[in-house]
Amino acid sequence: MSITVENISRRFGGFTALDRVSLEARRGEFLALLGPSGSGKTTLLRTIAGLDFADEGRVSFEGQDMTGTPAAERRIGFVFQNYALFRHMTVAQNIAFGLTVRKRRDRPARAAIKAKVADLLELIQLPQLGDRFPAQLSGGQRQRVALARALAIEPRLLLLDEPFGALDAQVRKDLRGWLRRIHDETGLTTIFVTHDQEEALELADRIVVMRGGMIEQVGTPDEVQAAPATAFVSSFIGETN
Ligand code: ADP
Repeated sequence: MSITVENISRRFGGFTALDRVSLEARRGEFLALLGPSGSGKTTLLRTIAGLDFADEGRVSFEGQDMTGTPAAERRIGFVFQNYALFRHMTVAQNIAFGLTVRKRRDRPARAAIKAKVADLLELIQLPQLGDRFPAQLSGGQRQRVALARALAIEPRLLLLDEPFGALDAQVRKDLRGWLRRIHDETGLTTIFVTHDQEEALELADRIVVMRGGMIEQVGTPDEVQAAPATAFVSSFIGETN
C-alpha cells in the first residue's frame, strides 16, 4: 500500500515537533526514518498510525484520505522498542491477540487462529515456544514475537519504532537480516524509525533524514552515503566536517 503524508504539522504547546512534513512511501517499499533523538520521527510514525493526530496536513493510504481515521481502523502492524508484549499471556496468545479481540463477526474461527499462530511461529523460527511466557524469552526472541503479533492481523502497512533499540549489537545485526527477509517475503510497505545510520543504510530501500521536525534529505542508501546532507549523516560516514 502506498502512503502519502502532505504538509503535516504537529505542535505540543509552543513547540513544533513536525513542521510541514511531506513524504511518500511507495507500495512494497522499505523506508527508514533516520534522525537524531527529538527530530520528530516517532511523532511522524504515530501520525501515520493514527496514534497521534496532526494539527495540519493530510495522511492518505493508497490515495484514500485517512487523516482522521482511528488507529484501529487503519489495519497497521506496529512494533515498539519495548516489545509491549502482554506479560500474563503466552507467546501464542500474544501473537493471536489482534485476532481474538475482534468482534465475533470479524473474528476468524479458533482453528484458523491456531493455524495462523503456528505459521507465524514458523516464520519467526520459534515453533516450540508458543506456550512460553514473555519473561522466559530473550530480548531478541521477544521482538520476534512482537513482529509476529503485528503480522497476525495481515496489516496493510508495517511500522516499527526503534524496534532493535533495546538489544545487544549482535542481536540487532541478526534481527536486521530477519526483518529484511520478512519484508521481502511479505512485500509489506514498511516504515522503520531509527537513529542508527548503519541500520538505515543496510535495511532501507530509501532513507528519509529528519532534523528539527523537518525532512532534510530523501534518498537511496547509496545517494545518502554519497552526498550526505547533514553533519549528522556525514559524521557517521566519516567525512571530516
Ligand atoms: P524522535 O522520535 O525523533 O526522537 P519525537 O517525535 O519523539 O522525536 O519527538 C519530537 C519532539 O517532540 C521532542 O522534542 C519531544 O520532546 C516532543 N514531543 C513528542 N511528543 C510529545 C508530547 N506528547 N508532548 C510534548 N512534547 C512531545
